[in-house]
Amino acid sequence: MGAIALYARATPGHEQRVADTLAQLQAAAAAHPGDIVQATSLGAEDMVLTDLIARHRLPIAVATLDTGLMHPQTLALIPRLEARYGLRVERHAPAQEPVVHFVRQHGEQAMVRSIELRKACCALRKLQPLAQMLKGRSAWVTGLRREQSANRGSVPVSERGGDGRIKFNPLAEWSWADVWHYIATHGVPYNELHDQFFPSIGCAPCTRAIAVGEDFRAGRWWWENEAAKECGLHVARPAEESHA
Ligand code: SF4
Repeated sequence: MGAIALYARATPGHEQRVADTLAQLQAAAAAHPGDIVQATSLGAEDMVLTDLIARHRLPIAVATLDTGLMHPQTLALIPRLEARYGLRVERHAPAQEPVVHFVRQHGEQAMVRSIELRKACCALRKLQPLAQMLKGRSAWVTGLRREQSANRGSVPVSERGGDGRIKFNPLAEWSWADVWHYIATHGVPYNELHDQFFPSIGCAPCTRAIAVGEDFRAGRWWWENEAAKECGLHVARPAEESHA
């Protein structure tokens, strides 16, 4: 059974949530002309946002982090998105020399050896390219939802980071059923790994399928405890620590 059959449900208030999200995106684009970007993980939520941005021709750039360890199924979405929507997806990759040095020093499996090494890997492969993506931009859009995990339970619809940049989370109030109902209704392309019980998809070494009844984020960094399970992209940092 595929993800649409498993998860898509029309629930009360869905159309209003879609309308509210569109209004938030329109307002965000108007408030940050030419310097706002959607940071897409190429997961289901981000596909919804890209669809809304493209369908309504909103002046919001679309960009992703190519950590060098993505699943081929995830990377395959980039040309599909570009062909379908006629837009360019920016790809931001880490600097090669520090990554090669890190792997030489700590090995290919460093991320499972300690939380410190895992966070160091995320800093190299995700935070540094994110800083590159956000450089010169005053706002960004993410697909964070409150329902995704306890750590994200109080995600606001928008927030100002320590660096002064605004982060918009226009799907904060959406449910997983909402996401898939939208995808089903609008024929939005999505990562085929979602059909193989991967609800949350990151780098290949740090993502696995989940079993029935497991938590939404159980397939991410499953060897760590719940509180540690963020890669740093969405952790508020004081201005002096900003990588942008
Ligand atoms: S998710 Fe895993 S492989 Fe990807 S950057 Fe973080 S530690 Fe490294």
